[in-house]
Amino acid sequence: MPFAVGIDLGTTNSVVAVATPTGVEFALGPLGERVHPSVVAFPPTGGVVVGTEAKARRATEPDTTVYSAKRLIGQNIKSPLVQLALTGLPFRVDEGPNQQPIIVMRDRRLTVPEVSAQVLGHLKRCAERQLGDRVTQAVITVPANFSDAQRQATKEAGRLAGLDVLRLINEPTAAALAYGFGQRKQEVVCVFDFGGGTFDVSLLVIKDEVFEVLATDGDFFLGGDDIDRAIAEFLAAEMNRHQHVDPRADNQLMTRLVLAAEEIKMHLSAASSAEGVIDGLMRGGQEVKLPFRLTRAQLEGMVRGFVDRSIELTRRALTAARLDPRDISEVVCVGGTTRVPLVRQRLAELFGREPALRINPDEVVAQGAAIQAGSLAGSLFHGRGMATRDAVPTHAMSPLAHGDVPWASAVAPARPILLDVTPAGLRIATAGGFSEEILERNLPTPIERTRTFTTARDHQTQVVIDCCRGESKRFEENELLGRLVLEGLPPRRRGDVRIDVTFRVDQDGILHVRARDADTGIEQETALEVLGAPVAA
Ligand code: AMP
Repeated sequence: MPFAVGIDLGTTNSVVAVATPTGVEFALGPLGERVHPSVVAFPPTGGVVVGTEAKARRATEPDTTVYSAKRLIGQNIKSPLVQLALTGLPFRVDEGPNQQPIIVMRDRRLTVPEVSAQVLGHLKRCAERQLGDRVTQAVITVPANFSDAQRQATKEAGRLAGLDVLRLINEPTAAALAYGFGQRKQEVVCVFDFGGGTFDVSLLVIKDEVFEVLATDGDFFLGGDDIDRAIAEFLAAEMNRHQHVDPRADNQLMTRLVLAAEEIKMHLSAASSAEGVIDGLMRGGQEVKLPFRLTRAQLEGMVRGFVDRSIELTRRALTAARLDPRDISEVVCVGGTTRVPLVRQRLAELFGREPALRINPDEVVAQGAAIQAGSLAGSLFHGRGMATRDAVPTHAMSPLAHGDVPWASAVAPARPILLDVTPAGLRIATAGGFSEEILERNLPTPIERTRTFTTARDHQTQVVIDCCRGESKRFEENELLGRLVLEGLPPRRRGDVRIDVTFRVDQDGILHVRARDADTGIEQETALEVLGAPVAA
């Protein structure tokens, strides 16, 4: 029986897991690793290398090793945030059709979904090697605040990797599922997800096996990479001061410093100071060594702004859900950056309790995705939602690394129900540069809502519907999602035409837009031209 896996496709690292009736198991990489770097290298000798081996090439082949592709997926290259992300990347990214980023690797030009498909393909192969069977279906997780285009591009990546993407689920919902599934809990949890590239916070009510998101917030450009860059800037300044070398103009030197910065950061999560010499810094064929010393207190001074921002967004989510920090019974940590002591300290201050660490923060999202995949594919449950032992061949079990086994108890849990919310307001452009909200943020999904509009000019035979997401009344201050054009309308006086515009957010969080002339019945649906991503199906 082919398997359905759960995949946490991360900015920095990815994890793949499979749920069986006896627990979640993680697929290991070629070196026995449970966490797979989301890195794809295109070595000079040809071929493609993915994962841990690719990450090792980052220092020596920075211009042909792609990392943090998730920061670019489904994005418009012209967006200011993408431009910001590009300044730090040592590999070449060009503008492609539809303003989508194109990654240039030697003689190859790849779309971002094509690069992500390499990561997904690697995860698929790791799982297949371990399970001794084909993996054809997957549930893939995405940040709760991922836009429509980002979700579609992620699905496209799955398809290119030969996976039938059963569902996209939001990362925080997946984490809550891993915590609450099979526990028969009744509580409100805060999932605080601070990863390598993105920050997400969600507040959920868990009631038996129903997981309902009350509010979600986040920042697509806030993560451990920012901390690495801050430390790398410090190291670069030190190098400039002591060796009169400015590494900031040198890709290779800077990459080496960023990688060293990450190691220093991790060390400082456990120790109060870090000291040593960074070697392997090549300049004009000569090796330069950089001695350094950094204390945790210094590091905290550098990163306080990033941590403050995550706490501020958490407070905003609490306000949106009309909750007090004391209402939260568990704080679930997700992502490597939650290992930073300052982050945990600020969380404990906010909630008056230590965060929960029962499940490894690197694996909790994949574990939830695996449970959802098992549930959707039917391998977890039989009959009326009861787990059975023989749903999965036993030979698949032995070589796998076991995770937590929350439901291997006498009573098997019911099928989980995930109720998510819209992460941002969804709006359309109206006259005078304004926008009108069709769906507010934090509405339960799936959802559909129709609003009626009239034409602004006499004899209009077409209506252009520009869609955006965000909270601003001014259209241009929001994120552009795409355009729908309704053509062939009979010319009538302005105001005499009634156009019903329907916004539907499906279970994957993807927006479908439909426009219909109420009189003639002329209709256009989901031909939403999303910039930087394939056109909606
Ligand atoms: P994720 O995207 O969840 O895989 O998180 C990866 C991020 O967590 C990267 O920025 C890592 O550098 C960071 N990280 C992993 N372990 C630690 C640690 N012990 N201390 C601080 N940051 C860490």
